[in-house]
Amino acid sequence: MPVSRVWLAELTGVVLGALALLLIGWLAGRPGLALLLGLVAYLGWHLLHVWRLYRWLNRGRKFAPPQARGIWGHIFDDIFRLQQRNRERKRKLAALLDRFRQSAAAMPDATVVIDADWRIEWINDAACEALGLRLPQDIGQRIDNLVRHPDFVAWLHGNDFSRAMEMPSPEDKRRTLSLSIVPYGRQQRLLLARDITRIRDLEQMRRDFISNVSHELRTPLTVVVGFLETMHDGDDECARKWARELELMQQQATRMQRLVEDIMLLSRLETGSDALQEEVAVPVLLSAIHEDARLLSGPAGHRIRFDVDARLWLRGNGEELRSAFSNLVFNAVKYTPEGGEIVVRWARDEAGAPLFSVRDSGIGIAAHHIPRLTERFYRIDVARSRETGGTGLGLAIVKHVLNRHDARLHIASQPEQGSTFTCRFPLALALDAPSPAG
Ligand code: ADP
Repeated sequence: MPVSRVWLAELTGVVLGALALLLIGWLAGRPGLALLLGLVAYLGWHLLHVWRLYRWLNRGRKFAPPQARGIWGHIFDDIFRLQQRNRERKRKLAALLDRFRQSAAAMPDATVVIDADWRIEWINDAACEALGLRLPQDIGQRIDNLVRHPDFVAWLHGNDFSRAMEMPSPEDKRRTLSLSIVPYGRQQRLLLARDITRIRDLEQMRRDFISNVSHELRTPLTVVVGFLETMHDGDDECARKWARELELMQQQATRMQRLVEDIMLLSRLETGSDALQEEVAVPVLLSAIHEDARLLSGPAGHRIRFDVDARLWLRGNGEELRSAFSNLVFNAVKYTPEGGEIVVRWARDEAGAPLFSVRDSGIGIAAHHIPRLTERFYRIDVARSRETGGTGLGLAIVKHVLNRHDARLHIASQPEQGSTFTCRFPLALALDAPSPAG
């Protein structure tokens, strides 16, 4: 029945009852008393039902509601219906939660639900196995008290979860885990850990393979180049007859040698085992590169200018820096037509951070190529790169070296206008050249 009708029926009952009482009271000569008695009886009826409602609610919701007439009958029925609906909804939610928990528990990736204070709320079986957590003892404990790897603790407190972190599993040091944190809800976090041991092993195998192959190719290539040189320089009939072919073979063999050297350097950079703690005299290094650039330019007659802060040294790896800087300078020579201008700068920027830049007036690069230039073997014009003896690995090496020095590469270029390659090093790596007296 609609609410308004129930309410109207009750009101009508009360008004009619009051009128009847008034009539009876009037006939008996005591209308006031009759009305008062009626009111007391009505109040008593309500109190009785309030008490029945109270007792029913307190006895537990399982019992059927008390039987009542009038508005109280409706109130009991409505509350009972509401309770039943709630009970049904709860049952469905519990079933859903159960299913969710079962599926999350069965997930192969370790999953930990953490609250705003880094306390564990829930973990699945994979988390127990991968992170060495125990159920139910560890629920409510802080995750950084249980997983104590220094990198993990630093990552957790760094509060920057845009990147995943890697660490050995606390349960088995041979396994590598990749951990990520996904914030959700109200300051809650989901910690996910994936076993990436196989991927890492495969990467290592790939690196070892490349490094071994290039190493093995080195010796035969040196022998071939040596003999080709001897044959080419010979003064007999055969050398004269095959001069052109021998020269081409020599060129290609030398290119292969350069390729092997670059691949070996890249694989060394990837392993990142060499120290980065040398005090590198960059000005000395650059003067050697200046000389080589002049030789490379040869008859092309580029105007090459080196603008070097002689007092600025750098903390890092000298060999790697020499490789990166020479690649950039030699590219400028290779990709700038005869007579063009090349300006190399080594100085501090406004903030004091070391800056290395190479500007050329060469062929330039179209904007859409720029983001891909540091990919291995990415060349805009393959024929031209080959012609100039390029391997397509130069800028990949530059990028790796800079990454290892926490430096950034910026490329600005316009076709036919020239290019500027800028390497920005962190201020912390800048060193003052030792004074001659010291
Ligand atoms: P490569 O051995 O082919 O020079 P790099 O990795 O050093 O390989 O460079 C990749 C490509 O970037 C080159 O093939 C060339 O197309 C382009 N490039 C590099 N430096 C310059 C430059 N200074 N001016 C124009 N193009 C350049």
